[in-house]
Amino acid sequence: MTATIVSPRLMRIGGGSVGQIAEVLGLFGLSRPLVVTDPWMLSSGTVDRCLDPLRAAGLDPAVFAETVPDPTDTVIEAGVAAFRAGDYDCLIGFGGGSPMDTAKAIAIPAAAAPGQKMREFKVPAQADKAACPVICIPTTAGTGSEATRFTVITDTETDEKMLIAGLGALPLAAIVDYELTYSVPQRTTADTGIDSLTHALEAYVSKRANPHADSLALSAMRLIGRHLRIAYHQPKNAAAREAMMLGAMQAGLAFSNSSVALVHGMSRPIGAHFHVPHGLSNAMLLPAVTEFGLNDALPRYAEAARAIGVATIEDADQVAGSKLLEELRALNQELGVPTPRGHGIGAAQWEGMLPLMAKQALGSGSPANNPRVPDEAQIIALYRKVYG
Ligand code: NAD
Repeated sequence: MTATIVSPRLMRIGGGSVGQIAEVLGLFGLSRPLVVTDPWMLSSGTVDRCLDPLRAAGLDPAVFAETVPDPTDTVIEAGVAAFRAGDYDCLIGFGGGSPMDTAKAIAIPAAAAPGQKMREFKVPAQADKAACPVICIPTTAGTGSEATRFTVITDTETDEKMLIAGLGALPLAAIVDYELTYSVPQRTTADTGIDSLTHALEAYVSKRANPHADSLALSAMRLIGRHLRIAYHQPKNAAAREAMMLGAMQAGLAFSNSSVALVHGMSRPIGAHFHVPHGLSNAMLLPAVTEFGLNDALPRYAEAARAIGVATIEDADQVAGSKLLEELRALNQELGVPTPRGHGIGAAQWEGMLPLMAKQALGSGSPANNPRVPDEAQIIALYRKVYG
């Protein structure tokens, strides 16, 4: 068996690294960036952390700030129009997963003939071409999108969160500066942190796991397992923010080179139909979905529990697996993760969407990577179980 490993050509990691953005562009001979961000980044002045050093280097960056949470195909179309209207040689995605995914997605149809729809690039299609290099600067810890070959875009006609995969979505470079995450609100710290943990755990238990991705997943779980609670309770704790940012990036590299699995497959439809933030819908599912697959990859789940720090090498795999489930439930409780019912989703609404959500979950391909591959009825049963 062979594994194909991909990652950005350059990753500049550390406090203050965003100040070196112009130097990084210069390494690649780039000088005409379109910065893709969201309205809050613009109104709060946070995007100036990227714009100021570019301007100080004599560049004249333009800004596209129309990104929405869970970016849509219509926003991408507007972004492609903005990109084509100027003479840009690169895109910079600055923000959480939504702006980074928007920047990455703009580059894909912009490389194709005008009029091609985003859905033409969704899996199983391969989106390998990009109109220009993309540089990502994450401000949450995080989706890991700065280091993955994926972008996730919602089809506004069907409400489907489409997975788009290929070298076209892989950034040329990432600047990973944990100091940008001090301002992340507590709820988002929790949601994005559990997103990272889910990436690492799913990459590690995936049927597509490989030794290179394993090492990244284990390292990410060690970092996140020890620092997520601290970052949640102490937003200005530098060591915790730094560890979470590195863990999020490593988790992104891990799943980009292995895969995500059933949690993500089931999570995307919840996000698309009920507008639950991505990390939060992962968190709602993580304990029950882990329990569902536990005995089909027990040694792997047990090793994950040891990496996270809740089991030791003295614990037998069965004991370590139980400790993992306990930890995931305890984490959700401490980080205030509600059930879908607690989040305000009505029972009839939830029940009515389950057949479609199960079909969309299976259609994404992610459940096929799970240690235990569910059928449609089992996915529906899991959705019912987590409803609360
Ligand atoms: P997000 O980008 O939607 O941001 C959530 C909120 O946090 C926004 O209001 C944003 O303005 C705010 N925010 C971001 N950084 C902040 C900061 N430093 N200070 C204060 N506020 C800040 O959320 P996200 O969870 O980072 O990204 C979610 C998106 O990423 C989803 O669309 C999801 O599908 C996608 N995703 C993509 C990948 C991938 O590999 N491409 C992986 C996982 C998730």
